[in-house]
Amino acid sequence: MTGYPPNAEPARYPSPAAHALPSPQAQAPARAIGVDLGGTKIEAIVLDPHGASLWRQRVATPAGDYAATLSTVAALVARAEADLGLAACSVGVGTPGTATREGLLKNANSTCLNGRPLAHDLGLALGRPVRIANDANCLALSEATDGAGAGAAVVFAVILGTGVGAGIVVDGQLLGGPNGLAGEWGHNPLPWADTDDASSIASAPPCYCGQRGCIETWLSGPGLARDHARHTGEALTAQQIGQRAATGDAPADATLQRYERRLARALAHVINLLDPHVIVLGGGLSGLDRLLVNVPRLWDDFVFSGGVKEPVRTRLVRSLHGDSSGVRGAAWLWRDAVPDALPDERGAVRERGRQS
Ligand SMILES: [Zn+2]
Repeated sequence: MTGYPPNAEPARYPSPAAHALPSPQAQAPARAIGVDLGGTKIEAIVLDPHGASLWRQRVATPAGDYAATLSTVAALVARAEADLGLAACSVGVGTPGTATREGLLKNANSTCLNGRPLAHDLGLALGRPVRIANDANCLALSEATDGAGAGAAVVFAVILGTGVGAGIVVDGQLLGGPNGLAGEWGHNPLPWADTDDASSIASAPPCYCGQRGCIETWLSGPGLARDHARHTGEALTAQQIGQRAATGDAPADATLQRYERRLARALAHVINLLDPHVIVLGGGLSGLDRLLVNVPRLWDDFVFSGGVKEPVRTRLVRSLHGDSSGVRGAAWLWRDAVPDALPDERGAVRERGRQS
């Protein structure tokens, strides 16, 4: 799930320097475990330093049971290490919601996690420090490390799904910020609103965050469905709208055209602020091929040009790892602790400052 603010820096418990627990990699081969803690399933992966998946399993989330959730994660990690004959590996966890400064999870749609010191408790359960980050940040880290944004200095990665979230990676490092808010673009208002947007904002329910007109309320799957219903009276899912548009259905095509214009404006805002080399689209709506073609054509009109039109060099791409980016990014939360991870990194072509 996405759209649950804010994106905190990876939380750590305990501080490796302040605690007697051994560093996860101190006695272990260089393997990184990632756990994607979702509302319906918990998935774990073991990556080698080159990003190859060595082991992967998925189990159902014990709904509404915090203690059982902790023990399920611990059991998955133990099983992975036993199957591969590994000692204590690093463990990163992707979660809905994020941690407060005090380490308490908030805004998780799996509500039994809210108010809980998840990284702390998982650290105790696993006997090692654990880092956690929200799913959009995991997507960004995954795609910037060895996905569609690999080699780019600044990557902005977006989840367009049930909600809208985003993460920012600069020079391979996840950006958090003093408020843990870096990337919370989904709760900015839609920029350059037109009259259709304005009338919709007036009639639409407020965003769950309390504001009206948030980007998430337009660009999420439910937002797309609501816009289609408002214009046509048809109650279709985002997936159905995409399928109908692909077969030439005019109302569905018009809905996607409105969606593309809104996404282009929202991303032009990001380009004006951050000027990323690559914008990665993930989440269910990123499966719409037409976005990758149409949105860059449309954002040209909104990216600041100072009166001199130049091609926008930011690339818009689809996530390479798709649904796997959450669990892979969680594993890469400890990338700095995996010896020789992605050894070609230092030699990779970096786009930073490149004037091509
Ligand atoms: Zn909002």
